Amino acid sequence: MRFNAVIAGGGIGGLSAALHLALNGHAVTVIERVERLQPVGAGIVLSLNAIGNLRPLGILPALIDRSARIDEMVICTAQGRELSGSAPNAVLDGEPIQALGIHRAALHEVLLDRLQTLGVTLQLGAKFERFEESADGVSVTTVGPGAMPPLSCDLLVGADGLHSGVRHQIHGAETSRFGGSTCWRGVADAAKPVGSRLTEIWGKGCRFGIVPLADERVYWFAVQNCRAGYRPELPSEHLETLFADFPTPTVDLIRATPASAIVQHDLVDRVPLRHWGTRRVTLLGDAAHPMTPNMGQGAAQAIEDAGMLGVLTAPKNQLTAPDVVTAYEAHRIPRSTQFVTQSFRFGAMAQLENPVASGLRNVAMRATPNAVTQRALDRLLTEGVPAAFRRTGLASTAV
Ligand SMILES: Cc1cc2nc3c(=O)[nH]c(=O)nc-3n(C[C@H](O)[C@H](O)[C@H](O)COP(=O)(O)OP(=O)(O)OC[C@H]3O[C@@H](n4cnc5c(N)ncnc54)[C@H](O)[C@@H]3O)c2cc1C
Repeated sequence: MRFNAVIAGGGIGGLSAALHLALNGHAVTVIERVERLQPVGAGIVLSLNAIGNLRPLGILPALIDRSARIDEMVICTAQGRELSGSAPNAVLDGEPIQALGIHRAALHEVLLDRLQTLGVTLQLGAKFERFEESADGVSVTTVGPGAMPPLSCDLLVGADGLHSGVRHQIHGAETSRFGGSTCWRGVADAAKPVGSRLTEIWGKGCRFGIVPLADERVYWFAVQNCRAGYRPELPSEHLETLFADFPTPTVDLIRATPASAIVQHDLVDRVPLRHWGTRRVTLLGDAAHPMTPNMGQGAAQAIEDAGMLGVLTAPKNQLTAPDVVTAYEAHRIPRSTQFVTQSFRFGAMAQLENPVASGLRNVAMRATPNAVTQRALDRLLTEGVPAAFRRTGLASTAV
């Protein structure tokens, strides 16, 4: 069965889905509201579940080329005391690995390059406006400088991000849930190398993350408890003061990042939905399950969604578009809901301000053997890689 699919949104989730569908022989059009794709954002951590779902797209060599390998993840206190750590849990390209650290723009470029080789139509400047659904198909209207005549399709996937128009049409107006903190992100060029270790340093009501990227660049994020909408006038100075007592290279990284390249977003999610779409329309990525980034799983869950669409639309399954939507939501809603919930809770735990509560948390974390934490994480991530995509004979079957 061959579909005509329209994907609203050319972000990481939308492009990954387009590639899986195109590789299965379906005709895909991606509509993207921006007229020009620009290298926006900072870094993204591709954990094993993301890598496992990207592998069938044939882009792993390009991804590895543009990433830094992460083979250790450590959480420590501002005094440098280790609370938890994990070691490589898989082998990729012959080397032990935990994850890849990549610039968001580089990941986007790798996906776009692959899209061009598969003949997928990417219409820029075409903003999703609304859809009309009949028993036989869906008609999609776009607006903007790249607007197209109404697009007829068998399947519409709303991958149009946190403020999704597709979601709004189905579910009406919703408010986002503020997670109690704000996050600054930056990429320090020419920083001192940080090796292949991802580090999170937890203070009281604030934390700082350090992620290696390719070419010795470093992606960092800084999280602080605050009211919604808090925007200090001078972010660099504010962060230097806030993290003055944190171990090196915290302040060095802030100083090595031009103020204009530091972005700030309040951490929000939405209460998970019980169903996402209609008969032939569904949602994907942040449009479906926006989550706080505390577990670093926003992009990975969008990529898992795309992988599941790839599995279900494989020609051998002969599923109709409504069957695909039903099976996709049955697989993806429970799992992504789990991440939305855990991520929200993890953020509250990481951002504890009360000295007694944060002290107790630290004792509990130190008392938990790293092997126990690692096993739980491995299981959680590996479950997100469909059996059809798994390799055998590796330390982890995820990649
Ligand atoms: C500008 C930006 C920067 C980010 N930076 C980081 C970062 O540095 N680190 C990190 O971990 N995460 C970052 N994220 C979040 C992360 O990329 C997402 O959580 C994750 O990749 C989920 O991807 P998605 O494709 O579901 O949504 P998104 O990445 O939000 O992509 C949605 C896409 O849909 C398009 N769109 C929106 N509305 C319409 C419409 N009506 N019609 C057509 N197209 C539409 C948007 O332009 C966008 O290209 C960023 C997101 C954005 C949008």
